Amino acid sequence: MKKILIIANWKMNGSVVANSKLLMAMLKFSNSLSHSELVVCPPHIYMHQVKEYIVGSGIKLGAQNVNENDDGAYTGEVSVQMLGDFYCRYCLVGHSERRLLFNESTTRIADKIIRLVAGGLTPVLCIGENLAQRERGEAKRIVTEQLAAIIEIVGLTCFKSVVIAYEPIWAIGTGKTASAEQAQDVHKVIRQYLCNLDKNIFKNLSILYGGSVNENNAGDLIKQSDIDGFLIGGASLKAASLESIYLGVDSVKA
Ligand code: PEP
Repeated sequence: MKKILIIANWKMNGSVVANSKLLMAMLKFSNSLSHSELVVCPPHIYMHQVKEYIVGSGIKLGAQNVNENDDGAYTGEVSVQMLGDFYCRYCLVGHSERRLLFNESTTRIADKIIRLVAGGLTPVLCIGENLAQRERGEAKRIVTEQLAAIIEIVGLTCFKSVVIAYEPIWAIGTGKTASAEQAQDVHKVIRQYLCNLDKNIFKNLSILYGGSVNENNAGDLIKQSDIDGFLIGGASLKAASLESIYLGVDSVKA
């Protein structure tokens, strides 16, 4: 059975002391035999610290970003190989904050995916509509167009290694979550779209939901048949909230 993925995106938050407290708490409640895989995506500068804490536990390391080149004159950037040096398993790509604040294009996102897959890491591709698109009833069209644009560049074989995170932009960091029905509706469309391209390749595809997930809404969301886990920002910085989501998810899918 495929594991439920719970990915903690710390964004640009944390400190050596705060991380240490959070990681100690996570080590206490996480369990390598659980149905869920817990992944921490810290800012790059804290990757070493996180790796030291989680070694030997079931918790995995992820990155929030990567450069699409192998090496060279890219000041401030980090390569796939560097992430691999820290046993990093996952990397977010196409997060709406990177698309909007750092002008990341579809081509760059696709290049990152190609590089990550070649380096043995799992890209977590974020897609989702903004509020105006949702209000115009365009959510499903937007997410399928986002998928199609990436697949056209990376190809189906590469894309089979990708985890998808459906993150409606209007729900990220706003406290507004998509209802379980709204999320399931879009997740189902994503799964159908990919299975229509190749059912064999995509039968085990993981589709995560992200957007103000917390201990109060996680239970309803995870009960939906096409929701395979969460990408969590704000609530992943609070040990008690993350613990409650993690344990709750495990009991629902057990
Ligand atoms: C995110 O960072 O991808 C996210 C979903 O953030 P939040 O949970 O805070 O909405």
